[in-house]
Amino acid sequence: MTTWKAQMDSLIGSAVARSKVTDEVVVGAGTLAQSGALVRRMTGLPRALVCADEAGFQAAGPPVVASLKAAGFAVQTHILPVTPLPRASVEEAEPFRALLADDPDLFPVSVGSGVINDLVKYAAYRTDRRYVTVATAASMDGYTSAGAPLAENGFKVTIPTRAPVAMLADLDVIAAAPAEMNGWGYGDLAGKVPAGGDWILADALGVEPIDDIAWPLVQDHLRGWLAGPDGIRRGDRDSVARLFTGLTAVGFAMEAHGSSRPASGADHQIAHMWEMEGHSHRGQKVSHGAAVSVGCVVSLALFDWLLAQDLGRLDIDAVLRRAPTLAARQSRLSEAISDPRIAEKAKLELAAKHAPPDVHAARLDTLRGTWPELRERLTGHLYRHNAMVEMLRHAGSPAYAAQIGVSPEHLRTTMRAAALIRRRYTIFDLLHDIGQTEAAFASVLATLAAGKREKAI
Ligand SMILES: [Zn+2]
Repeated sequence: MTTWKAQMDSLIGSAVARSKVTDEVVVGAGTLAQSGALVRRMTGLPRALVCADEAGFQAAGPPVVASLKAAGFAVQTHILPVTPLPRASVEEAEPFRALLADDPDLFPVSVGSGVINDLVKYAAYRTDRRYVTVATAASMDGYTSAGAPLAENGFKVTIPTRAPVAMLADLDVIAAAPAEMNGWGYGDLAGKVPAGGDWILADALGVEPIDDIAWPLVQDHLRGWLAGPDGIRRGDRDSVARLFTGLTAVGFAMEAHGSSRPASGADHQIAHMWEMEGHSHRGQKVSHGAAVSVGCVVSLALFDWLLAQDLGRLDIDAVLRRAPTLAARQSRLSEAISDPRIAEKAKLELAAKHAPPDVHAARLDTLRGTWPELRERLTGHLYRHNAMVEMLRHAGSPAYAAQIGVSPEHLRTTMRAAALIRRRYTIFDLLHDIGQTEAAFASVLATLAAGKREKAI
């Protein structure tokens, strides 16, 4: 197996060379002491603003501050409390944005994991500033991506921003991060399996072609990155480094593609619903990676259901006769989405993706005519959902909705809503196209409930 170090040099090295924004990625043990020099290479500004929350600052803040000072920066810090945890929202980024807007000589340095990085990324973009990110956990894939997935007025969107100009990760810090955080990163990476399946569907049906840079950057190496989940839970440095390499590659793939398509499909749509609801479990807001982890298993179970069908015998006329109009779908939207702000946005997304009858018919024709090949292509790419449940369990990431406090009824509502909130073509849209959404949902919910019961015994 290629070592993570070799991959960092070749794969990530060429991604950095291709990146329009990111000039340098430094990953290794004991690298925090290099952070000041790295930031100095990126800017001539005299002052640095270290942005963190209490947890991130505790993990890496003081050595970063010391290194920045040694590199000649006057250092200012702004540290958000962790009780309650900072929210991934435009509103939460406001203090960082205001500080940067007030002082054009201030260079932002993010020290932390997912939410902090996204807040600083957004604040830097809004104030037309470059920024450097110091990663403190392998908890998600967004360090090197261009977009910031933040809620704006309660609706989760990926806001187009700019990737960091440099990223630094100290593997001693990452390996020492709470095991559950690296488990969430594993879940976020695992989501690329069904997300890839979604992209295969979109490609095969002529909705959105697979891209020959972003696809191989993630999908050609995914199985290697996901191998050995036990090491993630143990904080084994090589396993964590491999995971971090994968997450970094995904970030660059999103930047190269100019969208989150290489990283996010139905699995993330499910997760986004819980994130928008502010879903909590045992008094803690459910993290992005934990939500994706569960979404990943649901999505793979939907694929399992799909692969068991014989779409070569699809009765296209019958499907078309029963297909609801856009108006009918929009009028039923509020049954699935109770928050009017989310429903309003979903209405637009639904309008953008609803296929008129001729397009729908052509899609079904392609599907029926190419089903054996498509089924084989999907089978070669995907994991069965129960295999993924095992992998996630070993990595210490949740696999079942009940593990994050989501009841079966809640999950059903989530699936119905998630299918509507984004125009991107996924398994949800394929199920709609073949008129089998509710049948597939019912079957998958029963399968997942049985799997969970078995695990509980
Ligand atoms: Zn993600």
